[in-house]
Parts: sequence; structure tokens; C-alpha cells
Amino acid sequence: MGRLAPSPTGVLHLGNARTFLLAWLSVRSLGGTLLLRIEDIDGPRVKAGATEQAIEDLRWLGLDWQGEVFVQSSRRMLYRAATQRLVDLGLAYPCICTRKEVDEAASAPHADISGVGSDGPIYPGTCRGRFTSLDDAKQQTGREAALRFRVDASEVPFVDGFRGAQIGAIAGDFVIQKRDGGPAYQLAVVIDDAAQAVSEVMRADDLLPSTPRQLLLYRALGLPEPMFVHVPLLIGKDGLRLAKRHGDTSLRHFRERGVSAGDLVGYLAKLCGLRDSQIACTPQDLLAEFDLRKLSVSAMRGDDHELL
Ligand code: GLU
Repeated sequence: MGRLAPSPTGVLHLGNARTFLLAWLSVRSLGGTLLLRIEDIDGPRVKAGATEQAIEDLRWLGLDWQGEVFVQSSRRMLYRAATQRLVDLGLAYPCICTRKEVDEAASAPHADISGVGSDGPIYPGTCRGRFTSLDDAKQQTGREAALRFRVDASEVPFVDGFRGAQIGAIAGDFVIQKRDGGPAYQLAVVIDDAAQAVSEVMRADDLLPSTPRQLLLYRALGLPEPMFVHVPLLIGKDGLRLAKRHGDTSLRHFRERGVSAGDLVGYLAKLCGLRDSQIACTPQDLLAEFDLRKLSVSAMRGDDHELL
């Protein structure tokens, strides 16, 4: 069982399309089931209409899924219950520190522990053992508190389905419930992947630093762990993260300029090393020959110019 998990914080771009295509191929080539989950809990960043647009873009690409669409914003009670369980187990505690305070308190600049990308400053444990409850934190400080998960390990080794054995470096306690009471990504994704019986989590390797955190949550909650498969991030030709400077790589932009879904899938297939030449095709056409081992281990480079 696999899943597509778009965040409706903007339009789908080439990088999303690439990851979703690979996730679809990986699961479907083995006869598995794929689900769709809309990760719309990142309040201020969620854009109106982006969910519908993402669904339309996925369909346009030729990707499909089974069953009902899961929407994270309708599952808040479940996240709350899981968070409470972690608090009851003594594994999570209220924290009133702001991002700025964490930055300032962190004794050293955040080392790039994963080799993949920075993942925020290391939390120095300021609020550990400081408050008995969220209310207590509010009363003592006048601030709303977040909840942080206690991390006593520095490594959570795991075997990645693409990258092999990983050290799984992890630094510091991390937020599982935000100050506004909403779930943090790390928690919601674990609760949902477990609830949906997802056995393969395929995503780009910019999320690799999240995996040790998620594994600790699976273990703390006694949930079965999926296989994590991190594929190289799609970056610009200049080696930098895809951004405006690489042109408009949104699927909508390509569609408006007459690029067909077949052209796009064919381009991605070549880019990923699944095919030697760039020929228009459907995801279905790639199923029979799909092999994750054909993917290059280094970051994939692409931009809008090759398609327009
Ligand atoms: N919703 C996340 C994103 O769009 C993906 C989360 C995940 O695959 O774990 O980046």
C-alpha cells in the first residue's frame, strides 16, 4: 500500500510530478494499492483551490488512486488523541519557546546532520520538565505552548528502500503539536500512514531528516513501520533547489503552453533514467519496465526549458 500526499500549499510542479509518478509506478508495478491524502494542516500556507487543482493535475498526468481521499484537516481529533497519548506516556511535554529563541539558545549553528539539508536548529531542551501541562505553561508564562516529543537517541538507524542502510541522525526534541493546537507534520503523517496501512512511503530525500523522527513516533505509539523510500530531489540545472529562477515549473504552466501529459511523463521518465530517450508516454506504459534501481542516486536536474 502506497500513497500520494500532496500539500495544497501551491500548485504542483515538476518535482511533485516526478515524485508522484515514481510512487505510483513503484506501488502499481507490484500490484499494490495507492491512496491519496491531502496534507492541508499547514494552516497559513494552504492556498484556496490548491486541493482541487492538485487532484486535477494528478488525473491529467494519468495517475490514479483507490478509495476515498483522506483529508488531514478533517482528522484533527485523531491527532489530538495520539498527542495526548504521548503526553500521558511522559514522552511529550509543553514548550513555549519561539523559533527565534530556539535559534538563539542553540549553542552551535545547526550542523547538517543528514547530509541532505538543514532541518532547523537543534532544540536545547529548555522546556523539558518545566511545566506540568499546557494550561500550566500558559498560566506561568502567558504564552500558548506547543508540545514537543522527547528524543533521547542521537541515531535511529533504518534501511531505506532506495538508499540502503541509513544512520538516521536525529538531533533534539521536536514539535508534534503546534502552538495553535494543530498537529505538526511529523505527527500527522505517522498517524495517517498507520491508519491507512501504508507500507511504502516514497518521497523526495529532502524529507530524509524527518524519517528518524517519524520512526520514533511509530515506536512510541506501537504502530507498524512502513518501508521508507527516498528518491533524489529534483533540482535545477544549476544544482540549486527548484525555484522561480528556474522558470515556471508548475504543471499548470506546462499545460497552458500546450505540453501534453504524455510529453511530461516522457520527459520525467528520461530524467529519472527509466527510459533512454524522451518519448511521450503514459504512466501505464512505464509499468512493465519499471525498476527503482535504474534511478540515479544523485539529485536529478531539470527545468522548464527542456519541455517548452
Ligand atoms: N505532503 C508532503 C509534501 O508535499 C509529503 C509528506 C510525505 O511524503 O511524507 O511535501
